[in-house]
Amino acid sequence: MTEDTIVIVGGGHAAAALCSALATAGCGQRVHVISAEAHLPYHRPPLSKSFIKDLAEVPQLHRDAAWYASQGITVHASDAVVSIDRAAKRLKLSSEKDLSYGTLVLATGTRARTLPNLALPSGNVATLRTATDAERFRGWIHETASGNLVVLGGGFIGLEVAGTARQLGWSVRVLEAAPRLLARSTSPQLSEYILQHHRNLGTEVTLGAKVGEFAFEAGNLKSLHVNDDEWLVQHLLLSVGAVPEVDLAHGAGLEVENGIRVDGAMRTSDPDILAIGDCTCFEYRGRLTRLESVQNANDQAKVAAATLTGQVASYQPTPFFWSDQGGLRLQMVGLWRDGLHTVTRPGSAPSSFSLFHFEGDALVAVESANAPMDHMWSRKLLEAGRSPSPAQVQDPQLALKTLL
Ligand SMILES: Cc1cc2nc3c(=O)[nH]c(=O)nc-3n(C[C@H](O)[C@H](O)[C@H](O)COP(=O)(O)OP(=O)(O)OC[C@H]3O[C@@H](n4cnc5c(N)ncnc54)[C@H](O)[C@@H]3O)c2cc1C
Repeated sequence: MTEDTIVIVGGGHAAAALCSALATAGCGQRVHVISAEAHLPYHRPPLSKSFIKDLAEVPQLHRDAAWYASQGITVHASDAVVSIDRAAKRLKLSSEKDLSYGTLVLATGTRARTLPNLALPSGNVATLRTATDAERFRGWIHETASGNLVVLGGGFIGLEVAGTARQLGWSVRVLEAAPRLLARSTSPQLSEYILQHHRNLGTEVTLGAKVGEFAFEAGNLKSLHVNDDEWLVQHLLLSVGAVPEVDLAHGAGLEVENGIRVDGAMRTSDPDILAIGDCTCFEYRGRLTRLESVQNANDQAKVAAATLTGQVASYQPTPFFWSDQGGLRLQMVGLWRDGLHTVTRPGSAPSSFSLFHFEGDALVAVESANAPMDHMWSRKLLEAGRSPSPAQVQDPQLALKTLL
């Protein structure tokens, strides 16, 4: 391989989006994707939503094998990059292959956070990050009509799975260490609504849960201690967040904080190495930020494609995330944080509303529950840098599109 070869490490959402953006740009360089997973790049969001509901659902590929071949993109599946020699611009792969690169793009994503005293894989304990994880988990969910599930961690993935498991007739307990659900990413008002939603579904939610010892029997988790009580466990989903996959970058001596540090053009501290997606961190409104979202993977991939094809681009995100939890559709744009002034816009039904968060006169974030149209216009307002007044957005008779 020569100077004009682009090698992408990781075969997830960001890698797939970069392949598409490079194809659109007609980049003319050889592209290799090294993916530790056996599948071609697929969409992860369905894994904790429709995929676990339906035994017949297969991973939704971004593109099929014929498309990659037609674009001259070689995907090396079930292989991993184990080290980077930056001086020689060479990579060592777990298959013992050795590849050279002109430009390297790290798109290594995240891995599920684990606990030191909870061994994985244990017979009845799962995490949910890959299609393989999801296939294993849905096997449990469908093997009996009414099992019981403990979800350790009240984050988005845990709550999505909890909602689905309840809808399928399982009894579900969610354990959250913090005093409220989704405390780092959602406002207290939305968090409270989500809590009541899950309790109305029949899920038992314990906040401020202090999880102690885990007891095992014949390779299975038998019980755990919660706030000094012993709980018997049939199945447990460990969903206590994700950590950025930065070992490779770290080993290569790149600048790493809570993720691989990138500038606005997606360059790392080595100008011949870019990074995109969940594994990156960057300056956003004066704070070092790491996002785990499809929006971030897509938008960073577009910026990286521009950088790789000699254009000038800078990542200016409008962070966006969605989640489906047992019939509740959540959409969030901008980043909520403490200290914002919040007003509520009612939707068309009692279960439908949007929370508009202001810093001074500036609209900085909107959270919507079952209000997709209002959310779509809110997102456009934020993307356009418009700040309507609190009185305007509170008035359900005033169509948001007229404020653009
Ligand atoms: C269950 C689930 C539900 C989600 N739901 C939503 C949602 O509703 N909305 C939303 O916006 N986002 C959602 N997300 C997040 C979204 O999927 C991620 O933000 C997105 O996948 C990030 O893309 P990525 O390419 O950066 O990382 P990933 O998609 O995680 O891909 C990284 C890939 O790199 C591979 N890799 C790592 N190291 C190496 C190596 N050394 N060599 C080769 N390969 C390597 C990994 O195996 C992995 O395949 C969800 C995620 C999960 C897991």
